[in-house]
Amino acid sequence: MDFALSDEERAIRDTARDFITREVMPLEQEVLRRERAHRPGLDRAELRELQLKARAFGFWGLATPEEYGGMDLPAVTQSLIWTELGRTFVPFRFGGEADNILFHATEEQKREFLLPTIEGERVSCFAITEPGAGSDAANIRFRARRDGDDWILDGEKTFITNGNDADFAIVVAVTDPEKGARHGGATAFLVDRATGWRSEFIQTMGEGGPASLIFDGVRVPHRNILGEVGQGFDLGMQWIGKGRYTIPSHAIGIAERVLQMAIDHANTRETFGAKIGTNQAIQWMIADSETELEAARWLVLRAAWTVDQGMDPRHASSMGKLYGAGMVNRVVDRALQIHGGMGYTRELPIERWYRQVRLYRIFEGTDEMQRLIISRDLLRGYTRIGGHLA
Ligand SMILES: Cc1cc2nc3c(=O)[nH]c(=O)nc-3n(C[C@H](O)[C@H](O)[C@H](O)COP(=O)(O)OP(=O)(O)OC[C@H]3O[C@@H](n4cnc5c(N)ncnc54)[C@H](O)[C@@H]3O)c2cc1C
Repeated sequence: MDFALSDEERAIRDTARDFITREVMPLEQEVLRRERAHRPGLDRAELRELQLKARAFGFWGLATPEEYGGMDLPAVTQSLIWTELGRTFVPFRFGGEADNILFHATEEQKREFLLPTIEGERVSCFAITEPGAGSDAANIRFRARRDGDDWILDGEKTFITNGNDADFAIVVAVTDPEKGARHGGATAFLVDRATGWRSEFIQTMGEGGPASLIFDGVRVPHRNILGEVGQGFDLGMQWIGKGRYTIPSHAIGIAERVLQMAIDHANTRETFGAKIGTNQAIQWMIADSETELEAARWLVLRAAWTVDQGMDPRHASSMGKLYGAGMVNRVVDRALQIHGGMGYTRELPIERWYRQVRLYRIFEGTDEMQRLIISRDLLRGYTRIGGHLA
């Protein structure tokens, strides 16, 4: 058994680390200042400029196939890079990306939606959640009715990341209520903002925020269907599947950074004439954090490896998402505790991470949904205890 990274994985990981350390981390204080003034940490033009700088460094389209100018990296390498991105709270991500399901687009749709998204000229959002259907995504009610060569879309989507900035939305709508969304009754549509949907920003405990999308008789041509009629639910699950290993990969980077901050603080802060790190109470928090971090790392890398092997990654990814999201919440909480009163202030970014990582247990499948998947797989004998080594 070999737990080492290959030379190539290490080289790419180290180059990403170098870029983020040199070009992104120096922006942290400015990002904090802006966010405290209720402004975005980075605006769209600044993000794009950084992404173009990263492109010159060789980072463009981590998951994007080479024929579209991307790197088409294996999932394990992508996971390592997402971990590096997690080490800073600057809202930066590498450019040249598009939603994984946009690659199902027709040639015409590719020109209109996919290619400008990869180039960063257009911003997309993906909308399946509704006020009445989140975890139970098969229960969506947002309706699309056929009208000649068009479809008429009515309903509301909610909690949509990028919903307020997006130029177009990938919307999953019910096209055949008889069948039900899960069994071919839902379809994905590519819907330009110019068709008349509107968005309403939702304030959250995190920085930035999702939006509700409101569709009131929005007319969409039939050619804007993504994939096939009836394929919407499967495409939605495919979209969500990607985040199940990238989100906990990001969590690992956050945990690495805050744990290092906690260790540095424990080695310098003195109480009762000694460094706080000499107390067993502090040592145990550090030990538990490192152990859980390491456990999450291997769960997540195994999930990514499963993707690369062409195996069904859902079980491994659910374990990685469940454990990684919980782990980062516990590690950030302990790091905040070790910093005492300072941890609670906005002088330090720990409270920001504390608010940010709470989301990781909720979006793209709550903890409870991951547990549902993991236990259901075992109970019906789809997976075996011991995974691929069993
Ligand atoms: C900031 C943010 C960004 C988001 N981005 C997007 C996006 O881009 N696109 C998109 O489509 N959606 C997005 N979402 C929606 C997100 O995926 C949902 O919020 C999530 O799936 C949970 O759905 P819900 O909020 O309706 O909670 P509910 O489904 O109502 O669940 C409420 C609680 O009950 C629990 N629960 C539900 N059913 C069961 C059960 N059977 N057994 C045990 N417990 C259960 C849940 O785990 C949860 O704890 C986003 C959400 C947030 C907060």
